[in-house]
Amino acid sequence: MRALRQSVTMIGVRHLPLPDVTVRKSFQRRLLGWYRRHRRDLPWRNTDDPYHILVSEIMLQQTQVERVIPKYREFLRRYPTLERLARARPAAVRRTWYPLGYNIRPRHLQGIARETLARYGGRLPDDGDALRAMRGIGRYTAGAILSFAFGKDAAIVDTNVRRVLGRVFLGSRRLGRLRGDRQMWTLSEALLPGGKGYDWNQALMDFGATWCTPRAPRCPRCTMKTFCASYPLDGARNGRQHGLA
Ligand code: SF4
Repeated sequence: MRALRQSVTMIGVRHLPLPDVTVRKSFQRRLLGWYRRHRRDLPWRNTDDPYHILVSEIMLQQTQVERVIPKYREFLRRYPTLERLARARPAAVRRTWYPLGYNIRPRHLQGIARETLARYGGRLPDDGDALRAMRGIGRYTAGAILSFAFGKDAAIVDTNVRRVLGRVFLGSRRLGRLRGDRQMWTLSEALLPGGKGYDWNQALMDFGATWCTPRAPRCPRCTMKTFCASYPLDGARNGRQHGLA
């Protein structure tokens, strides 16, 4: 295990050498094992309909899972298909969206539905560039749609993923000095195990949301603790210091 820790701690901030294959495989095995035991049962994990997954991802931008769940169900009862949403009146869509906030999101969602209908025959494209060309879909959301709706090996980086990968592979001090997400995207892509994009991305998000949390990471019982560069972590202090809360 000492070899694992040494490989990880060689990583710097400016140039981020990627973890070697032993560390990568160990991290993958542990995270997927953790996910099998602790995964959350969320409604958008019980569908493979790309439109339903799109709705969940747009709602989850800026909004907590607990608030999204009832609204996701209500929204899909009202607009069960992409076509129904595309043809709806924008004011009605906005009313259904209330009170999730960030009202640019229902506008974007309906815009995506209309563009999909007009340009792609009503089927959301399974291509990263085509998705990112639509307003409201950034790099993260495109990766989430590609992996969750189409089972592709597309990486994601959001606040949770950044925190988890940063803590494990950089350590909390160097994570605090990291600027921008470019290197984090490279790291996330390098760690993704081939053919497992769906489970992998769900696992990363669940681990960040429920275990390696901003203020109360569960370090003493963590499967990563033997090679995590931040172990043991005072989550409350580091969450505040690095704006990761
Ligand atoms: S040991 Fe602590 S900081 Fe490291 S991954 Fe586990 S919970 Fe997160």
